[in-house]
Amino acid sequence: FTISIKQAPCGVESKCMAALFGGIEGGGTKFVCALGSGPDDIRAETRFPTTTPEETLGKAIAFFREQQALHGMLSAIGVASFGPLDPNPVSVTFGHILPTPKPGWANADIVRPLQEAFALPVGFDTDVNGAALAESRWGAGQGCDPVVYLTIGTGIGGGVLVNGRLLHGLLHPEMGHIPLPHDLERDPFPGVCPFHLDCFEGLAAGPALEKRWGQRGETLPPDHPAWDLEAHYIALALSSFIVTLSPQIIILGGGVAQQAHMLPLIRQKVQQQLSGYVQSPYVNEWIDQYIVLPGLGQRAGVLGALALAQQATEQG
Ligand code: ADP
Ligand code: ZN
Repeated sequence: FTISIKQAPCGVESKCMAALFGGIEGGGTKFVCALGSGPDDIRAETRFPTTTPEETLGKAIAFFREQQALHGMLSAIGVASFGPLDPNPVSVTFGHILPTPKPGWANADIVRPLQEAFALPVGFDTDVNGAALAESRWGAGQGCDPVVYLTIGTGIGGGVLVNGRLLHGLLHPEMGHIPLPHDLERDPFPGVCPFHLDCFEGLAAGPALEKRWGQRGETLPPDHPAWDLEAHYIALALSSFIVTLSPQIIILGGGVAQQAHMLPLIRQKVQQQLSGYVQSPYVNEWIDQYIVLPGLGQRAGVLGALALAQQATEQG
């Protein structure tokens, strides 16, 4: 039966018969749920505010139950969530959010309620690892390995795909919390990370921009000195990731990176900081195709969840 699905001859038929996945993009302020077989075949989507784990997961479960009745059974569910979280299947806290300042979510079990409701494989990873996987399968990262996906918004987080797999280890990468050189004469702002003050996130995420300059990033004009400093910090971090991970592409998501004038400035500063040391034409000549926006645009998050579901069926 599975073979006949894959070999279904006509587009329409194969679309109707393709394996269906459920994706849950779990954000700090909202959840997005989608049901479909891939980026060109999303059958249904919904979004609702993040409240308590019980209520929020309950809404997701109700959505998939309702949609399964209309579109057919799901093959797997993927959750791409804010962190920190435990993605290690052999750990006792697998599938949980780890201690977090977010009220009500510390130690919340995300995976078990879904398994109990649907008895399906459940993929579970960070939002940025999910986005890295989706970009690798369907977006800007196709044909590249390693893929680094970095989001710069309310927080800063990074996901990494390497040798075809998402990078885990102790837990998962925490690329927003690397220390950065901080010239206190140029930038006396102490930083806002509750753990480290002036780590990358503490200096360069949206809330740092807002607190340092007294206005939200969205309202700062393109010629404001905020942007040169912001690009400086982002470029320092990217230069570190380039020399440590040797990625074949770096994809920048999140609101701050979407400022049109930022990308050229970041690319130029990365080249300056690396000073020709990394001998790859991607850095030295083709940097416009090396440090890029998500090919899936704003959809990278929810498609990341769908990609995690698809991956959960491949890994059995
Ligand atoms: P989230 O990280 O919450 O998913 P965003 O990526 O939109 O969502 O990040 C929100 C943060 O980024 C806020 O601090 C906001 O001020 C800032 N931000 C969002 N869009 C922009 C923009 N176009 N330019 C600068 N800052 C932005
Ligand atoms: Zn930090």
